[in-house]
Amino acid sequence: MEIKKGIAVSPGIAIAKSLVIDSEDYRIPRRSIMPSQRMAEVQRTRNAFKGAISELTQLESVHDSTEGGKIKDIFAVHLRFLHDRSLRKRITDLVHSESVTAEYAVSTTFREIASHFTKEKDSYISERAADIYDIERRLLRQLLGRKRENLERLTEEVAVVARELSPTQTAGFNKKFVKGIASDAGGRTSHAAIVARSLGIPAVVALEDLTETISGGDTVIIDGNHGIVIVNPDDETIRQYEKYSLEFVELEHKLDAIKQKPAITRDGVKITLLGNIEFPDEAELVLQKGGEGIGLYRTEFLYLNRPTEPTEDDHYQAYAETISVFKHRPVVIRTMDLGADKYTQSRRFAPEPNPFLGLRSIRFCLQNLTMFKTQFHAILRASVLGKVKIMFPLITNLQELMQAKMILRDVMEDLDEDSIAYNKNIQIGIMIETPSAALTASTLARDIDFFSIGTNDLTQYTLAVDRGNELVSTLYSEADPAVLRLIRTVIQDAHKAQIDLHVCGEMASDPEYIMLLLGMGVRTISLTPPMIPEIKQIIRSVTMEDCNNVVRKVLAMNSERQIASFLRDATRKILPEAF
Ligand code: PEP
Ligand code: MG
Repeated sequence: MEIKKGIAVSPGIAIAKSLVIDSEDYRIPRRSIMPSQRMAEVQRTRNAFKGAISELTQLESVHDSTEGGKIKDIFAVHLRFLHDRSLRKRITDLVHSESVTAEYAVSTTFREIASHFTKEKDSYISERAADIYDIERRLLRQLLGRKRENLERLTEEVAVVARELSPTQTAGFNKKFVKGIASDAGGRTSHAAIVARSLGIPAVVALEDLTETISGGDTVIIDGNHGIVIVNPDDETIRQYEKYSLEFVELEHKLDAIKQKPAITRDGVKITLLGNIEFPDEAELVLQKGGEGIGLYRTEFLYLNRPTEPTEDDHYQAYAETISVFKHRPVVIRTMDLGADKYTQSRRFAPEPNPFLGLRSIRFCLQNLTMFKTQFHAILRASVLGKVKIMFPLITNLQELMQAKMILRDVMEDLDEDSIAYNKNIQIGIMIETPSAALTASTLARDIDFFSIGTNDLTQYTLAVDRGNELVSTLYSEADPAVLRLIRTVIQDAHKAQIDLHVCGEMASDPEYIMLLLGMGVRTISLTPPMIPEIKQIIRSVTMEDCNNVVRKVLAMNSERQIASFLRDATRKILPEAF
């Protein structure tokens, strides 16, 4: 039994057999074979080596004449590995001794070798682990053909274990079969984590080397409440976790009982709870959980898993479906936030060197006007169906806002010319996700109807910590005094300008920050649907005086640690069951 600690990103407990997939979605289950099949598997292994060697030799010869040098050296190293007889013997011995498939023997052997490399202190040697994985993948491609696993068509319950998952991969998981998710990489606010939370699948990320210590088919416990993953747990541990899992489900039922009650503090202050969604069908879940509208529709997910761009009608249908659930309630449609960790299929293979600081979000839209206008057409057409609002992500300065508004006006004129109905007074808001926007909030506020604070990006950009990088995940915290100071400024500027203010980053889904946000003056939050009942319970258990006291104390503290631990203790007193 091995216990690993990572970051809890989606609550709940999963106990299942692991399905280990690599970044190319290859699935390597531990599949036993009959003794009579061993020779055939050994032959498959030999063929795979042969195929990989010939592929590499060909590649090496091409690079030999063109670039020479470094690339040729890499191929030479890979070829040396593939020619190593003892390595091949180790794999075929495993096929014989354990009666397993060639792909399982290849994967297990290479992972063992890679784990020796990663443990080396010398960074040159430890970085060679990437080469080992590369060779492993080349062999697996030979063994499995080019076929990828279709994780949408699973037939048995599994816990998915991966080095890293993309938001698109995660969004494709079928909740009926994917009971839990564990990954080496990622952070609490990486988009794959956000999607796992929306789907309600327990998940732990930033486990660093889990994929090196686990094999497909191992039993695994994923504790999405405490960020713990247990590989091959003993019977007693399984029993304890089964009990704990039942208690957790009971707590959820208890919280679900208050979902239709208003989100009102004990002294009568009404808080509006909206939902964050990635797909239109999640709107129904927001409603079921007691949400009062959609505060963030991440429309870029319309682009992620299809080979071509969505048409105007695809957009329109998605918006209409969402609005149909909340006809008389706000639906905030965020224009596409592509780039960073969310690439369209066509841009996926040419990532930027520093994508979070690159052609992302509104910047991408302002350089791709046809795409942008298509989305505006659809939003405006849908605006007559309900209370639609438009929101621009990642605004960093006034000029970007003005440009975006100008393009929106152009599209409005087009619709006027074609006599197509739309809401001429549609509300326009921006996300405050960068320090530059937060520091100029009073100026930006003059030209819009609302702010929505995107604390995920605001934290990342303020602290210069990549929100999806497990190596710096301990440095990522909304409780940092710098982040809190910016949030407070934005709230105050919104109040002064008398515009609406929402908070829609993951901070709003985290019970530990609710009293602080309320005390700082927030009255509308948008959060991941499964967390709505728990957050409502906290709101219904406190008074504004409690919240103001929390703010007063936090503002007097200088360290993130002190603030985080104070907020944890304060919340534990209000909702001990959640801990
Ligand atoms: C945010 O940055 O806080 C936010 C809500 O947007 P996203 O998580 O989609 O980047
Ligand atoms: Mg963001």
